[in-house]
Amino acid sequence: MDSSILVAGGAGFLGSHLCDRLLRQRKKVICLDNFLTGRKENIAHLLRNNDFHLIEHDVWEPIHVRIFESFNTQICQIYNMACPASPVAYQQDPLSTTKTAILGALNMLDLAGETKATIFQASTSEVYGDPEVHPQKETYWGHVNPIGLRACYDEGKRCAETLFFDHYRQFGTNIKVARIFNTYGPKMQIDDGRVVSNFIVQALKGEDITIYGDGKQTRSFCYVDDLIEGILAFVDCDPVASPFNIGNPCETSVGDLAKLICKVSNSKSRVVFRPLPSDDPSRRQPDISAIRDQTGWTPKVSLEEGLEETVKYFREAIS
Ligand code: NAD
Ligand code: UDP
Repeated sequence: MDSSILVAGGAGFLGSHLCDRLLRQRKKVICLDNFLTGRKENIAHLLRNNDFHLIEHDVWEPIHVRIFESFNTQICQIYNMACPASPVAYQQDPLSTTKTAILGALNMLDLAGETKATIFQASTSEVYGDPEVHPQKETYWGHVNPIGLRACYDEGKRCAETLFFDHYRQFGTNIKVARIFNTYGPKMQIDDGRVVSNFIVQALKGEDITIYGDGKQTRSFCYVDDLIEGILAFVDCDPVASPFNIGNPCETSVGDLAKLICKVSNSKSRVVFRPLPSDDPSRRQPDISAIRDQTGWTPKVSLEEGLEETVKYFREAIS
């Protein structure tokens, strides 16, 4: 029997890039997704690849080893990417978001226990909430509103981290928990409401660019290829008993992002200001010294280069 890698949420933005990358490394990949925010188009080119299988499945439901036996394979690694990530998407049905974050983590951990697979958890910078410490180090416990509109995601992901570390302490499971910071690139959904996709689509269509608040809030944007490299380096390194930040530490204000996107897409769109959503973090920047020291990984793609690639993708996608 051969071994395969399970990518839960493999039809989403990051998951589909991960599937591509693993297949290029000649790994066998099983993608599990319920297509809540993922799209068949993201993985359509893989469906005829013999090393790729798709299972339509909701991570709320347990998944048992015998399913993989029917593909004559066993699972050696699990990547748990299954969860809506855009604030617009995860706030649409907040109870379901929390269930996905928590039940998904539990079910994937149970599978890791059964198969003895290494398991990667796509956690998030959102566990830091609206941070009082800047840049954010893994040792910072965060500043999250537990009853706010973002809590379904933030607290869901925080609880998932708890489940991962308790699984590690109780059963010795080989866990890798990464706190991913804002990532962008081709295959983001056109209408998922995140800032990079919103601004690029608005700029390309000549529509007003909608800055929420005064645009002084910051994020640190990582190009998807860099992020996937970071995840793979992290999963391949020796076991570590700590979550690691993965992202690009280059901090940019939302206002400057709007200007750069107009420049890169050669757009004459004007900027308009809209109310800031509640609990919107005022700043965010990863301290990546832990992953850099552990693996040597650092991001390589500048924001301008990454946006050029992303604008190219969106130009085609909306034409
Ligand atoms: P995405 O919404 O594009 O992908 C999520 C995928 O999970 C989709 O294919 C969706 O259909 C699937 N999914 C959702 N609920 C599911 C369920 N109950 N059962 C099975 N599949 C389900 O989001 P993304 O940007 O690719 O994010 C992937 C992961 O990375 C998420 O866990 C997210 O929290 C995390 N993350 C992403 C970012 C980012 O900037 N993209 C930042 C931090 C963390
Ligand atoms: N944002 C914005 N205009 C938009 C979409 C988002 O100004 O059309 C802002 C949002 O308020 C936040 C930042 O951009 O301050 C990043 O938002 P996103 O939804 O991409 O991710 P977040 O980091 O908030 O989860």
